[in-house]
Amino acid sequence: MREIGHWIDGKAVAGGSGRFGPVWNPATGEQAAQVALASLEEINAAVASAKAAFTGWRSTGLGRRAEVMFRFRELLYANRTELAKLITAEHGKTVDDALGEIARGLENVEFACGAPSLLRGGFSEQVSTGVDVHEIRQPLGVVAGITPFNFPAMVPLWMLSNALACGNAFILKPSERDPSASLLLAELLAQAGVPDGVFTVLQGDKLAVDTLLTHPDVEALSFVGSTPIARYVYETGTAAGKRVQALGGAKNHMIVLPDADIAAAADAAVSAGYGSAGERCMAVSVVAAVGDSADPLVEAIAERVRKIKVGPGLDPDSEMGPVITREARDRVAGYLETAKTDGATLVIDGRDDPISSGPGFFLAPSLIDNVSTTSTVYTDEIFGPVLAVVRCETYTEAVKLVEDNPYGNGVAIYTRDGGAARRFTFDVQAGMVGVNVPIPVPVSYYSFGGWKASLFGDLHMYGPDGIRFYTKTKVVTTRWPDPATSSVELGFPRTR
Ligand code: NAD
Repeated sequence: MREIGHWIDGKAVAGGSGRFGPVWNPATGEQAAQVALASLEEINAAVASAKAAFTGWRSTGLGRRAEVMFRFRELLYANRTELAKLITAEHGKTVDDALGEIARGLENVEFACGAPSLLRGGFSEQVSTGVDVHEIRQPLGVVAGITPFNFPAMVPLWMLSNALACGNAFILKPSERDPSASLLLAELLAQAGVPDGVFTVLQGDKLAVDTLLTHPDVEALSFVGSTPIARYVYETGTAAGKRVQALGGAKNHMIVLPDADIAAAADAAVSAGYGSAGERCMAVSVVAAVGDSADPLVEAIAERVRKIKVGPGLDPDSEMGPVITREARDRVAGYLETAKTDGATLVIDGRDDPISSGPGFFLAPSLIDNVSTTSTVYTDEIFGPVLAVVRCETYTEAVKLVEDNPYGNGVAIYTRDGGAARRFTFDVQAGMVGVNVPIPVPVSYYSFGGWKASLFGDLHMYGPDGIRFYTKTKVVTTRWPDPATSSVELGFPRTR
């Protein structure tokens, strides 16, 4: 069985713990490899290597660090197809979709290439007679990133680009479901000139996460994953005195007003609901159809869903691949049964498609209408190719749905009415809002983050918040004394 190991001290290292996790090919249902799960000794060795490398990296000139990021950008772009195929092999999404996540990750590298401007501090001259003040941003030290299975390249790039450009040493603990992309990223970073130990990949499970969360030499942790683990990571890490940002799960609503272009709204709902088999934290999982929009909208969505080509991600004709594991498929399929019991209308039941009972982890797309807000089909994050339609009488009812939902990641409104859209962006309780845009993932020079149970911590991920997260500020007050005016003064310093 092929073994997937770590990247420590600038080189690939085989796992030595004797513990492994299975890595599947979701399109065939066969185990493709096994990934090493780090032992305590390996984790400590990786942190020690990162700590030792940090001193040199933080002293490396800003221009040189930016140059390394520019080179990494070029290498990542040149190797994007190889990386996309690696993602498809272990995650299952189509190659085109994998290329999309790499393109969005590249944006984060490009943003980080601007580190020299982003790290520029402020200077105030003559705050008091002969006294100047300036502010500098310094890296934190060893920082760690713990990432989910659904974006094995993009989410690590959200974190590592800014972390490294700011002068930190970064340890990535990728998802054990699709670990190979992280190792290609490591190789490309090394080729770009990132010194040994500055970037580490530690494959592992709960032991690795728990150890990093409390390790005295780890200063900060960025986490992206499900809400229960995000909450745990935030609480454990902050209790240990770390800086933590922990992004959690989602239940993203797309509100369709009666005046919306129904065909465009249906296109968007299908793209955002079933792309990547619904395994995106920004996937639309609930369509809130307001008033008269509901009947034509459900019909238009159903017509499109029936045409989705489900198949292996490596087949260029496939539009939607499998889900990540057999357990995930069974869990998601379970919600279709729940929908029936809870009195919803199963417009399309993906289980009826023969591909859903094959050896690969496929589940054809499903559409459920008349979903009640008390059903677990509505309250749970299903994270699969299932779109739920909740019918609302009014705009106010639809906005209240979002407000009452524990999650607050992304939300979208479909309307032709600028006034309604403006009011919506003012009213709605979510961190990322789309107006006739179904997946409003911010570009890299803004920051990404949800509200409520979708994010624990103060700072969002990447963009300007990413620079703030990975640096600490220092304010320096300077006087070059003139011996002629120097004197002893015991009063509290004040400006003169
Ligand atoms: P997950 O929470 O199961 O795993 C995420 C990471 O946490 C992995 O690296 C995993 O090894 C680790 N982990 C899992 N269980 C742990 C435990 N008990 N203790 C310590 N560490 C543990 O999430 P997933 O299934 O890989 O990813 C899907 C989830 O991620 C969905 O809920 C999705 O919405 C969310 N997600 C959120 C965003 C966002 O930006 N908000 C982005 C992508 C994915």
